Amino acid sequence: MTKFSELNLDPDVLKAVAEAGYEQPTPIQEGAIPPALEGRDVLGIAQTGTGKTASFTLPMITRLATGRARARMPRSLVLAPTRELAAQVAENFDVYAKYTKLTKALLIGGVSFGEQDKLIDRGVDVLIATPGRLLDHFERGKLLLTGVQIMVVDEADRMLDMGFIPDIERIFQLTPFTRQTLFFSATMAPEIERITNTFLHAPARVEVARQATTSDTITQKLVQITPPRKDQAAKAKRELLRALIQAEGEACTNAIIFCNRKVDVDIVAKSLKTHGFDAAPIHGDLEQSQRMRTLDDFREGKLQLLVASDVAARGLDIPAVSHVFNYDLPSHAEDYVHRIGRTGRAGRKGTAYSIATPADDKYLSQIEHLVKIEIPRTETPEGFTLSEAAHREPKQYEDKERRGGGRGRGRERDKDRDRDRDRDRERRRPEPAAAAVVEAEAPIPLPEAPRREERRERHRGRDRDDGPVVVGMGDHVPDFLLRSFRPSKPVEEVAEDVSEPSEA
Ligand code: AMP
Repeated sequence: MTKFSELNLDPDVLKAVAEAGYEQPTPIQEGAIPPALEGRDVLGIAQTGTGKTASFTLPMITRLATGRARARMPRSLVLAPTRELAAQVAENFDVYAKYTKLTKALLIGGVSFGEQDKLIDRGVDVLIATPGRLLDHFERGKLLLTGVQIMVVDEADRMLDMGFIPDIERIFQLTPFTRQTLFFSATMAPEIERITNTFLHAPARVEVARQATTSDTITQKLVQITPPRKDQAAKAKRELLRALIQAEGEACTNAIIFCNRKVDVDIVAKSLKTHGFDAAPIHGDLEQSQRMRTLDDFREGKLQLLVASDVAARGLDIPAVSHVFNYDLPSHAEDYVHRIGRTGRAGRKGTAYSIATPADDKYLSQIEHLVKIEIPRTETPEGFTLSEAAHREPKQYEDKERRGGGRGRGRERDKDRDRDRDRDRERRRPEPAAAAVVEAEAPIPLPEAPRREERRERHRGRDRDDGPVVVGMGDHVPDFLLRSFRPSKPVEEVAEDVSEPSEA
């Protein structure tokens, strides 16, 4: 068994790793660190949770230990698909580089350009960025990428999902041909293969845990339920979810609950809170600050239950999650692997419950085909029965129907809310009336001016503009329309010019 001390890492890095409590390298670290230290390109095929962040950060810090950063010319670059992931890499960097003098800057949306410019002007060793924001800085002439010696692309398959590949190609072309590239992806889609063939030079290929494998530290359980009425399926599932959480008792220290649709993320979180559980939602339509706050609370153990959509949760490193609950079975089988991979990480034990109704049969067989096991069936918790209400026609829904609103209008509104927001793969599964019914039970306010985070990132320049999002131009908004307008003089001066014309 290899030890960290045998990996030729900088002594300062080894000290930080020992303090982090790591006893031995994970397989991706064992495979990627030696070639990365030799300066070779690395193609890492690994999911989050395998220790891949350290597998590129540790050799990077070691290699950058000698040399100095020059103004506006970062020496290394890490690209991550979302703000949260970039922030996570930055946190990891702070831990591993704490005994070095290396400097970093984090370029993500939601942070003022001025602050970031100052850091870059001073010269940074490591620049961690989302692709859109990086190109923004570049286009403003504030940044030169010709000094990049090491470039890391993290979560490339997710970059592909989010439409970032053209940006990544452009960034590759802005960096020197002689750079070292460390490239990570959980899967190797043909487009990813093409990129690696084009931009990586004879990479060391390191592959750990294939996409379709689930860790054996996770106990998987499937609870099947046949709702007494179709229009009460969501209610029945919420009741079962509560019973499952309660039945786990103290063993459930913290959990992520996955829903397929953002609207259900809100409803389930709200319903859990109403029933006295400590729960909060996270999905792409929530304000960035709220998402960060919720995540921080969850990480720090101040929040027990995180109700999430796939996109919001994927790739986030949340250590020691005891449970995952699939409120919905995912409609894409590989999401099942990603979801339950949130628990049972780094050798710890975890439990993953999935709730399935007869309507999920198709998804279930696709998942079981992918993971090549039959998910063990388990009974509903002892004493569990559905409430009387779950057998009846939804009351307020009835009232709404009578008022001539109700189901049809509710569904339309949900559709409106979700329309245009789904390119981030948060797929809708038609579940007629459920949303309308629950809406009547626990009204969910419409999210304020939804920011559609992932799309904003994708359109460079939109981060500068915190105004309302214009809907209707699809993805084909010309770049110049997305630029913010800046007067050549300070606003006050312009105002004076207008109100007090000069005498000349
Ligand atoms: P990552 O795949 O980079 O998101 O890492 C997943 C988690 O594993 C993080 O919480 C790391 O702190 C942790 N980790 C990384 N390397 C090791 C290691 N060698 N031993 C134990 N935990 C680790």
